[in-house]
Amino acid sequence: MELRINALRRRFRSLGIANFLVTRPSNVRYLCGFTGSNGILMVTGHDAHFITDGRYTNQAGEQVKGAGLFIYSGGASVADAFVRELKNNRDIRFRGRVGVESQFMTVEFYQTFRRAFPGSTPVETANVIEELAMVKNSGEINAIRRAVDITDRAFESVLPEIKPGVRELELSAEITYKHKRLGAEKDAFDLIVASGPRSALPHGIASSRKIRTGDLVTFDIGCIVDGYPSDMTRTVVVGKASRRQREIYRVVQEAQQLAVEGVKAGAKCAELDALARQHITRAGYGEQFTHNLGHGLGLEVHARPVLGRQSRDKLKAGMAVTVEPGVYIEGFGGVRIEDDILVTEDGAEVLNRSPKELLEL
Ligand code: ZN
Ligand code: ZN
Repeated sequence: MELRINALRRRFRSLGIANFLVTRPSNVRYLCGFTGSNGILMVTGHDAHFITDGRYTNQAGEQVKGAGLFIYSGGASVADAFVRELKNNRDIRFRGRVGVESQFMTVEFYQTFRRAFPGSTPVETANVIEELAMVKNSGEINAIRRAVDITDRAFESVLPEIKPGVRELELSAEITYKHKRLGAEKDAFDLIVASGPRSALPHGIASSRKIRTGDLVTFDIGCIVDGYPSDMTRTVVVGKASRRQREIYRVVQEAQQLAVEGVKAGAKCAELDALARQHITRAGYGEQFTHNLGHGLGLEVHARPVLGRQSRDKLKAGMAVTVEPGVYIEGFGGVRIEDDILVTEDGAEVLNRSPKELLEL
């Protein structure tokens, strides 16, 4: 944790700040280890201070490393309690400009802070810690590997259950159950099981719809191990695939493979997106590929880097990213294929082992 806090301090000069106020829970966790939902971390030039409320006394004592610990009680908001501590506690000396996470600090906190310290201007920043967190250490990579392995096995175990008459929610419940039985903490997000015309919804969270013969069924599933996610998509056909289903599947699979083959240290994320997008566009489905190619995996499922057209990110060894092109045709259905990929010194390693050829169940 000290290493991570120091890495943040090294960014202070270029950001024109002398302190950093961390309010995004996953960034608090990244820097000091706290996994609870209510906590704030202040990193100064020479030390760090963490505050949370009385529910987390024991948990914070066990988890928080590299920061002084303050617990508040009573009904005050964490913002009020924190500002009061900053004002009254002589051990905390902070001066000068304070970096804040403009996408995550509440307006209430911002105003409270400004009123309490009129001489200290908050400096709005974005993605500072998210960028520090892009390259994973071996512990983080191991957690992702374990999460991916669990999701692969959960998917394999649910394949025999995919039959006409089964509801999407029953299948998602089976996967959730398997995730936990195999050692995951929880699902990484609301699992997507989208069948028939619903498969054209890129985020079609499982519903009570019953699977029918001839349906495309998209599974976008993932779990969390030690805070780190897996995030995999597979699309299957129930019964025999039609020509059009087969054709769309082939285009998406080829596009996914092209992009996967481009993943290596130094690759520009926008160019990887283009590899897949051009292939899909040439096949006539460019307008139906309505999202980015992929994203980084971290303490947030959707983390940096961004693999998209507008992205200026470049891949580095130690990053974990997804590659997940899709084609969605309203009223007909959709296909998406997503793998989790580790960028290595000499290329890339696809972590998922679930089959990618078209499964007709
Ligand atoms: Zn996904
Ligand atoms: Zn994803």
